[in-house]
Amino acid sequence: MPDERRLPADLIHALEEIVGARFVRTTIEERALYAYDATIRRSLPDAVVRPKTTQEIAALLPICGAHHIPVVPRGAASGLSGGSVPLRGGIALDLTRMDAILEISPQDLLAVAQAGVNTQRFADAVAAQGLFFPPDPSSALASTLGGNAAENAGGPHAFKYGVFRDYVLGLTVVTADGRILHTGGRTVKNVSGYDLTRLFVGSEGTLGVITELTLKLIPKPQAKRTLLTAYDRIEDAAETVSAIIAAGMQPAALEFLDDASMRVVESYLHLGLPVDAQALLLLEVDGPAVAVTEQAEALIALCRTHHSREVEVAQTPQQAEQLWRARKSISSAVARIKPSKISEDATVPPSKLPEMVHRLQEIGRKYEVDLVIFGHAGDGNLHPNIMCDERDAQEMTRVWQAVAEIFATTLDLGGTLSGEHGIGYMKAPFMAWEHAPAELDAMRAVKRAFDPLSILNPGKLFPEDVPPWPVPLPTYPRTPPSA
Ligand SMILES: Cc1cc2nc3c(=O)[nH]c(=O)nc-3n(C[C@H](O)[C@H](O)[C@H](O)COP(=O)(O)OP(=O)(O)OC[C@H]3O[C@@H](n4cnc5c(N)ncnc54)[C@H](O)[C@@H]3O)c2cc1C
Repeated sequence: MPDERRLPADLIHALEEIVGARFVRTTIEERALYAYDATIRRSLPDAVVRPKTTQEIAALLPICGAHHIPVVPRGAASGLSGGSVPLRGGIALDLTRMDAILEISPQDLLAVAQAGVNTQRFADAVAAQGLFFPPDPSSALASTLGGNAAENAGGPHAFKYGVFRDYVLGLTVVTADGRILHTGGRTVKNVSGYDLTRLFVGSEGTLGVITELTLKLIPKPQAKRTLLTAYDRIEDAAETVSAIIAAGMQPAALEFLDDASMRVVESYLHLGLPVDAQALLLLEVDGPAVAVTEQAEALIALCRTHHSREVEVAQTPQQAEQLWRARKSISSAVARIKPSKISEDATVPPSKLPEMVHRLQEIGRKYEVDLVIFGHAGDGNLHPNIMCDERDAQEMTRVWQAVAEIFATTLDLGGTLSGEHGIGYMKAPFMAWEHAPAELDAMRAVKRAFDPLSILNPGKLFPEDVPPWPVPLPTYPRTPPSA
């Protein structure tokens, strides 16, 4: 990582005046801690700034703008598309000091929290009051609410309950020129003007800095039941998922693991998973106690119709927790195979899931890469993960080709580049594959309206802003072989 850039002394001084000298860090050691997220590229910021209040952020952004210095909002840096990597240096704006849960209101079924609040801590605080906040990214122990909003995070429960955006009633956002916007409000129904809340959710730190969130809560389901079912043929597992959806069933979670993911998890945790099976489905139903029993029985019957080998039903919350450990530990488990990991979240319509799984396996074989497949099958959101070694140039060429083919295949099947991880720098080169020029122009116009100097998280989202893909990209849509 080259360390050539330096910020003007008057800018550093101004930032210190705003947030306090302790919270402006410029040593190489401290900046190195902010050079990465959960993707593989590294890039040093020129300074790390750790504000405590919305007002501090409103004061510092115009000063950065006047110096044309990039500002990269950052939560826990657990992102899988490179959103918080400061590709063009500038300020890494660490939001984690803004970590107060300001209100939990059982009367209004909402909570207000600052952007740096840890996702799991928030869910636990809400649960302690008998309420439920469904968005549950598997990274919840690390991630922040601000990062979740900026990426519009999903998770296992998105199939039944929706994604992060479905729970955001309102936001406090600071725009690049230092204006403080309060979007939305405290009501579920709110059609007063343009829906700025939805615009900022999923904007990946490129339109404004989210400092506070008003989040919708729901009553905690009375009961839940967790099931694990194994298949000898991966196609049967994928077809079970399609059949569950077609039958109008709505499990709270419907997760898929292929044999490779299952084996790495088993060798890591020794949970007694059926490693000779080709695929696993992890299902959860929730709701009133009687309905849960009925739903679980109906699901077991449907799994059996589709040739499931065995169905394990958790008898206690501890057993359920153990089954979820298998799913939630995949990322850590696969990280032991090779030094690096490319984690994708290609998403297809649920009816295309069987074909997508099949084609992902073909891509793994064609490019001879270590590919495991798992994910939120219920909403077609698969996570093909490729384990690799960045020091092996030949392997990396095949990896980058495989990733491009995964995106092309996803789009061929009517899917999208990202179901929940966002675009960042990792998928920006492919944006023109999914979006027509007019659509990208509309997005650029929105960006210019909120951030005319392009200081907020530059080098993300737009294909022209990012470094070229490491291998030549094919044209897309693909040319038919006969043409
Ligand atoms: C093991 C593992 C499992 C994961 N599982 C899931 C999953 O199930 N579902 C899922 O959706 N994601 C998952 N992720 C990805 C990641 O955790 C999410 O994208 C999460 O929302 C990022 O939160 P963060 O606080 O770490 O944000 P960061 O990574 O720090 O930032 C992400 C993006 O948001 C922007 N940003 C951060 N905070 C703010 C703010 N306050 N205002 C404006 N912009 C901001 C950043 O600039 C960046 O573009 C997983 C990641 C890992 C490593």
